[in-house]
Amino acid sequence: MTIRRISIFGATGSIGQNTVDLVRRTPERFKVVALTGGRNVAQLARDARELGADLAVTAHEERLPALREALAGSGVEAAAGPPALLEAADRVADWVMSAIVGAAGLAPGIRALEQGGTLALANKESLVTAGPLLMAVAAEHGATVLPVDSEHSAVFQALVGEDIASVERVIITASGGPFRDWPFGRMAEATLEQALNHPNWAMGQRITIDSASLFNKAMEVIETKEFFGLAPSQIEVLVHPESLIHAIVGFRDGGLMAHLGPADMRHAIGYALNWPERRHLPVERLDLAKIGKLRFEAPDEKRFPALRLAREVMQAGGLAGAVFNAAKERALDGFIAGQIGFTDMARVVEEVLARMSGETGLIDAAITLDNVAQTDHVARIRATEAIETLKTRA
Ligand code: NDP
Repeated sequence: MTIRRISIFGATGSIGQNTVDLVRRTPERFKVVALTGGRNVAQLARDARELGADLAVTAHEERLPALREALAGSGVEAAAGPPALLEAADRVADWVMSAIVGAAGLAPGIRALEQGGTLALANKESLVTAGPLLMAVAAEHGATVLPVDSEHSAVFQALVGEDIASVERVIITASGGPFRDWPFGRMAEATLEQALNHPNWAMGQRITIDSASLFNKAMEVIETKEFFGLAPSQIEVLVHPESLIHAIVGFRDGGLMAHLGPADMRHAIGYALNWPERRHLPVERLDLAKIGKLRFEAPDEKRFPALRLAREVMQAGGLAGAVFNAAKERALDGFIAGQIGFTDMARVVEEVLARMSGETGLIDAAITLDNVAQTDHVARIRATEAIETLKTRA
């Protein structure tokens, strides 16, 4: 049996913990090189000890003493701060899980790809902000990128043995979130607690709110374009409240290949972890006779403008994805902090996109890590300005 050297970035989060759960079940198959986390150093240290990691890194320098203390006597090396995250990515591993949340996941992911191994990509922001760069680095270094988002894993699985040229369209599904049936006026008043009440999936806080606004789906549409190299017109979104079909691939002969599975991220994570093999995974087996019915609806882009904005971003290309993501992240912070209402998030993103598209040379600059970081920075300032304007109007 070959032992796989693995690292988990964002190990303390929802995806990270599901990955740890799978690794823990067959520890003899893996050598854990590095685990990284953010504020939750207690969890990071517990997992690093249990899995016998070489290195544990917290993103926050001020947490280093706490991490060191929690790891005392374990033999696990401790480090902190963004440069230490990059150094962790330099440690040779066969398989790296990219599950840091937000734009902060991009640089460590690129760095890991430069080692030429396999990157299991949960961090969708990487593809949205810098898809062409990420895929080019992977190609240059002979690295493999595997999707972990359930929809993209579903498409990837439906494409095994198929020629991408025979694909007519890809349909990614959306549960519709907790506000699927709510009129716009009621959505405008939605609270944080209501936005966090996802009908099917248990996920981190930020992606759960993005699911309620369909910004998550908008990100996934862009992710689909970048990962599979499809034209925007080939990508469709379908509301499917049961969240059992994750994606459908439509071929040029009219056939549709759907991927079904329980709403449990350990399926997509496990598929990537075991790829190219399929192994037993501890997920529920669906009883379709008991489920009885699956429902499908067209998304309502008036109530959920994020989907329209995603198409505009794909049309614009270049750094528009970096603007979109940063404005969305800042607007999300504003909603979480109670500065703006739920439906204001899309207004903020739309305004920032419009403003920055008008600023010569910004969106059209080359997609490099520096340009993405600079664009991200400016977009957050513009989003903060848009939030302030909305607050004074309220
Ligand atoms: P969580 O918020 O649950 O976890 C995020 C992880 O990133 C934690 O380990 C956190 O550390 C760490 N982190 C937070 N900020 C930073 C930072 N600035 N630098 C380095 N590390 C940081 O997120 P999820 O697990 O839900 O999501 C992770 C990624 O996967 C996201 O990109 C998301 O869109 C994507 N994804 C998630 C799915 C899900 O089901 N959850 C499904 C598909 C994709 P700590 O908690 O210790 O502070």
